This record gives sequence, structure tokens and C-alpha cells, in this order.
Amino acid sequence: MKFDVLTLFPEIFDAVLGESIIGRARKNNIIQINTINIRDFSLNKHRKVDDYPYGGGGGMVMMAQPIYDAYLSVLERLNYERLYYKPRVIYLSPQGRVLNQQIVKELSKEQHLILLCGHYEGVDERVIEEIVDDEISIGDYVLTGGELPAMVLIDSISRLIPGVLSNEESYSQESHYEGLLEYPQYTRPYEFCKRKVPDVLMSGHHENINRWRRQQSLKRTYLKRPDLFNKLSLDETDRKLLEEVLEETEK
Ligand code: SAM
Repeated sequence: MKFDVLTLFPEIFDAVLGESIIGRARKNNIIQINTINIRDFSLNKHRKVDDYPYGGGGGMVMMAQPIYDAYLSVLERLNYERLYYKPRVIYLSPQGRVLNQQIVKELSKEQHLILLCGHYEGVDERVIEEIVDDEISIGDYVLTGGELPAMVLIDSISRLIPGVLSNEESYSQESHYEGLLEYPQYTRPYEFCKRKVPDVLMSGHHENINRWRRQQSLKRTYLKRPDLFNKLSLDETDRKLLEEVLEETEK
């Protein structure tokens, strides 16, 4: 999977996406992350990329032309490589669809994404109309730029690309994968601040461990995220597991 990021701050990306699991996936060429500095496409001798908003008001707006030319440079590179498809272009924006695991799954099926990071007051609307296929927000709050949201998007999508996580790091039991939150996790030591690891996890009985974990997932989702819980359609077994664990909690 390829990501081309159009940004004014390319150096931010390597610091975050050059380490750990994503760094390893890049080295193994499972994912490619390429940054394109929008400023390199400015026609202005001072490499200016923003200007005052028409109609007045505070702040600066990123100009359409440098962004458009940065975008064209990605298409030209594809042409040069004789790859004839159009990558999906995503503008990271507080006005977009709010990111969740369902959207992450959907985007992980793409082979190539171009991510546009805005800054200042945002981007000239005409370049959005011209090149953008989708707008994604990482939450209902406003950040100074699209770089952190782009990295959130790249990280969350990359983990779903086959080969990025090893078997041990698999995502299939994780929070949000099936609409449930993950069960609690423990590691050594057995006792910490007088709190012991639950007996069932020490039993070596895999069926009981799986049952306990499922129960904990159901309980956590029910208690911590009723909004997610209400979207689930539980079968009889899950309903009983939940009833049982909630009764135990009340005792
Ligand atoms: N004036 C814009 C508005 O009110 O919609 C906000 C601009 S914001 C200060 C600058 C840039 O940060 C945006 O162009 C966008 O790329 C990015 N950004 C800010 N908040 C974001 C969010 N919640 N999700 C995704 N991108 C965001």
C-alpha cells in the first residue's frame, strides 16, 4: 500500500512513522510512505503558499495552485512508472466523516492514497472541489494542521495491511474490531500493588480463558461504551455471558 502525503511539514512524518511496527513495515516494503512538500511547488520567489482570504477575516488560506501541482506530481510519477489508475485523494479536515474502525477497514482495501494536510485557516475550496474524493476528520475538535490526522490515518490503516503486524500482534481480538472493546490484559509480575492476576488466566485452560475474555469484552463495552453496545446484536450465548458477569459484579 502506498501513501503520498501533500504537506508543508514533511519532516514531522519520519519522526513518528519511522519507528516501531510502522517503521519495520516500511523497511520491509509492505507499505510506502512518501511525503511531498507543497512549498516546492510554489511559483513565488519567497516560496509563499498562503494568502489572505477573499472577503476578509483573520488567518491565511493555503493557495490552490501549489497543492494542485503537488498532486499532479504524484500522477506524473505514476504515469512515468506506467501505472494507470487514479489514487483516492483524502483531505484531512474537521469537516469530514469522523474516523472509526469501519472507515479504517474500508480505506485499507485501497492500493494507494493521497493525503492532503491543510494548515492555517484551511485550503482554497476550489482545489478541494477539483482533486479531493473524501474528507476525513479524526474527531470533533480543531487542530492546527492535517499532519497529526494524516499520521493517525496512516497508522490505523497500515496495521490492517497483511504482514504489517506479526501473528502475536494480531488485531482480530482488539477493541473495535468486532464492535467490542478488548478484555483486560496482564503481564508479569503475578502480583502488583497487592493486585493479583485473575485466576482463570493462570489456569492454562484455554476454553475457560476464552470464555472469560469474551465476557470481559462484553462487560467493558456495556459499561464503558453504551453507544457501541447498542449497535451490537448479541446471540443467546453472549447475552447469557453478559448477564452472568453483570450479576457477579453486583454481588
Ligand atoms: N478553518 C477550518 C474549519 O473551521 O473547518 C479549520 C482549519 S484547521 C485550523 C487547519 C487544518 O488542520 C485543516 O485544514 C485540516 O487539514 C487540519 N485539521 C484540523 N482539525 C482536524 C481534524 N479534527 N481532523 C482532521 N484534520 C484536521
